[in-house]
Amino acid sequence: EAKGRGPNNHVLFEPEMQAKVSRRAKLEGELRRAIDKGSIGAFYQPLVDLRSGDVCGFEALARWKNEDGEFVPPNVFIPLAEESGLITPLFQQLLREACEAARSWPEDMGLSFNLSPVQMEDRMLPTRVIGILDEVGFPPERLELEITENALVSDPDLAAHIMDSLSSRGVQIALDDFGTGYSNFSQLARFRFDKIKIDKSFVAACGTDERQEKVIQAMLGLSRSLHAKTTVEGIEDHRQLAHFVSQGCDLGQGYLLGRPMPAEDVVTYLSDRRQVLATG
Ligand code: C2E
Ligand code: MG
Ligand code: MG
Ligand code: MG
Repeated sequence: EAKGRGPNNHVLFEPEMQAKVSRRAKLEGELRRAIDKGSIGAFYQPLVDLRSGDVCGFEALARWKNEDGEFVPPNVFIPLAEESGLITPLFQQLLREACEAARSWPEDMGLSFNLSPVQMEDRMLPTRVIGILDEVGFPPERLELEITENALVSDPDLAAHIMDSLSSRGVQIALDDFGTGYSNFSQLARFRFDKIKIDKSFVAACGTDERQEKVIQAMLGLSRSLHAKTTVEGIEDHRQLAHFVSQGCDLGQGYLLGRPMPAEDVVTYLSDRRQVLATG
């Protein structure tokens, strides 16, 4: 079958493939050990009320420094954890840690936490979440779970069931990265979201591209008519901030408003910020 190809052609791509496979295997081994040791932590990024300017919560973002001392981005190790069956132990560890950290924040601060799409296939998810909240003593009303559109695709009935059961315990549900995933509008109506987060890819173009602008306005309108609050992600400059404030967006998140920070910096960040506001 391999017409026109010498057997040497196989030799050409094989080392590359093998290197890729063995890099992955090495990383997976390291990830497993890191989870065993509990050495994956989280940074916390502020969520800001765009009307009052107040911080109203933080999103936990997983951070892993591997055995070579390098930060591996979550976009790399979260999919790896999903594929190697490690997402549940990792999730339980991180959620417990985040709730413990958030317990020491002022009572009006919420905690947002990301869920992987594969977790919406886990019937035990609500029990796991409530178990951790009970154990740590963190009120479900202060926890918000972020899921992406892609999490609703594989088994929409199960996803709706999981969301309802979490909602009935008081946990808030946010739709993350809205507009970038599998936006099946016919399915969207089935799910109840407390919040919709407009993906950062929409932010860069705001105020420069009229058609893009219309799309953002329609997303804000949709969010409002579904009685969900809207967050805009990835605000990096004042022009973008002013734009979304004027559009009536409820909440903002981005480097301009605050970078992800280690847990020990949160309390200082909040008190510094309150002082800045108090002194004008
Ligand atoms: P996400 O949930 O949409 O989180 C927002 C991402 O945007 C974070 O990247 C954050 O650091 C980054 N970001 C925040 N503000 C700005 C900004 O102004 N400009 C730009 N360019 N980026 C900004 P990060 O921490 O690398 O996380 C990437 C993704 O990995 C997250 O996207 C989330 O989908 C996933 N992830 C992170 N932690 C977890 C976790 O504990 N569990 C799961 N399942 N997924 C996680
Ligand atoms: Mg998120
Ligand atoms: Mg997002
Ligand atoms: Mg994202």
